Amino acid sequence: DDEGGGGEEYLFKVVIIGDSAVGKSNLLSRYARNEFNSHSKATIGVEFQTQSLEIEGKQVKAQIWDTAGQERFRAVTSAYYRGAVGALIVYDITRRTTFDSIARWLDELNTHSDTTVARILVGNKCDLENIRAVSVEEGKSLAEAEGLFFMETSALDSTNVITAFEMVIREIYNNVS
Ligand code: GDP
Ligand code: MG
Repeated sequence: DDEGGGGEEYLFKVVIIGDSAVGKSNLLSRYARNEFNSHSKATIGVEFQTQSLEIEGKQVKAQIWDTAGQERFRAVTSAYYRGAVGALIVYDITRRTTFDSIARWLDELNTHSDTTVARILVGNKCDLENIRAVSVEEGKSLAEAEGLFFMETSALDSTNVITAFEMVIREIYNNVS
């Protein structure tokens, strides 16, 4: 809609999915508030956070959704996915099981979406190089095979966090504009 300056506004829903404790909540708090919590606790109350950026002179708001820990019970609801046009699918580079789960998360995303969803595969905790269990190459080739963007991140030291979110948001913008 028009807010006087003739500028258009966009609102995009983005979801973060992946196994428990891969760092989804911390990626979001790092991106939206530049905060990190070393003690994992259940997300309380807040369903999403909003972050604004400007693309080609347009005001773009990303409404980024975080699970409230339901992924532990494999019970992320369809309401969570409804209307999403972007997704970060996250694994932990130090735990191979979380990488093995990516196919299942992609299936679930696919099942729940009826539109084009901009997707990025995110290998989080790249600060823990000494206990890495999934190589960069493995991440890259899975992303290539599935047609996803790919980035390794660290919510702890901020590596590539803004880049990863903005890749998705810019791709959504490209998809709709
Ligand atoms: P979620 O269950 O996927 O939302 O994961 P959380 O964001 O709650 O993080 C789970 C645990 O991993 C917490 O103890 C975080 O402090 C830790 N963690 C999250 N991101 C990183 C990271 O990039 N590096 C390191 N070293 N630890 C992280
Ligand atoms: Mg969480």
